[in-house]
Amino acid sequence: MATVKGELIKNVAEEKAIHHNKISIVGSGSVGVACAISILLKGLSDELVLVDDDEGKLKGETMDLQHGSPFMKMPKIVSSKDYLVTANSNLVIITAGARQKKGETRLDLVQRNVSIFKLIIPSITQYSPHCKLLIVTNPVDILTYVAWKLSAFPKNRVIGSGCNLDSARFRYFIGQRLGIHSESCHGLVLGEHGDSSVPVWSGVNIAGVPLKDLNPDIGTDKDPEQWENVHKKVVSSGYEMLKMKGYTSWGVSLSVADLTESILKNLRRVHPVSTLSKVRHSSF
Ligand code: NAD
Repeated sequence: MATVKGELIKNVAEEKAIHHNKISIVGSGSVGVACAISILLKGLSDELVLVDDDEGKLKGETMDLQHGSPFMKMPKIVSSKDYLVTANSNLVIITAGARQKKGETRLDLVQRNVSIFKLIIPSITQYSPHCKLLIVTNPVDILTYVAWKLSAFPKNRVIGSGCNLDSARFRYFIGQRLGIHSESCHGLVLGEHGDSSVPVWSGVNIAGVPLKDLNPDIGTDKDPEQWENVHKKVVSSGYEMLKMKGYTSWGVSLSVADLTESILKNLRRVHPVSTLSKVRHSSF
């Protein structure tokens, strides 16, 4: 029997499933769903997959996102508890795992989340042996290393969100202090994401003007303007939001969507991420 769909496309083309950019997100909690919406609104892929072991929440979040389809550029949003649904992903973003409770640091999560990664990573690599992995779960730098080990992928295919969020917060606080859009405030926070991160004051500039030329003591104890407080705010603001709303999601998800765009479009931009880099010691 003829169907409406069949009649509608019969003179056009045979329908074939071609996935150009399939993105899977493991973990449909606060961060996972926020990443999904940030990626959907940027139209970065033609298939978005969500996986979580909490089936009820997974289905509910997926339906809610699907109902926004008429307002998005990406038509296909699917989900399942079964990793088969992630097969042949180009990029798999991992946000699954425990998050900090009040009074916990990111490093306190390591044992719980390593155990979860031991379950997740082999399932991903089984179905998407050629994908790139983007790790967001904390402690992100350690878990990126763990994911690299468990996946046995080449190091350039396992990336952690690292200090991309810390750097975004840094640029936002600098912009606030100067009354300039954060997009025009350039600067990096490097090192481990979170408490021990390091602001690179020598590189902070507005339109190529280094702030260190205007204030040689910037970021040091001798600085009369106490710019170091900007970095203190970068470190403390995550904890502040945890106290106030119980989690953080929007800042991280927008920064993950930005990384996703660089990865999938091979934009050759520079980001502060977690990656395996070997320090070469010169011998004299
Ligand atoms: P959440 O509790 O809201 O969500 C976590 C999800 O993981 C839940 O839906 C849970 O069901 C799922 N999950 C747990 N074990 C699983 C398993 N074995 N398989 C599949 N799914 C599983 O937490 P959240 O607020 O979304 O935070 C997630 C992670 O992101 C935390 O580790 C948090 O610290 C981290 N985070 C990282 C950054 C960053 O910049 N890297 C920023 C914010 C949060």
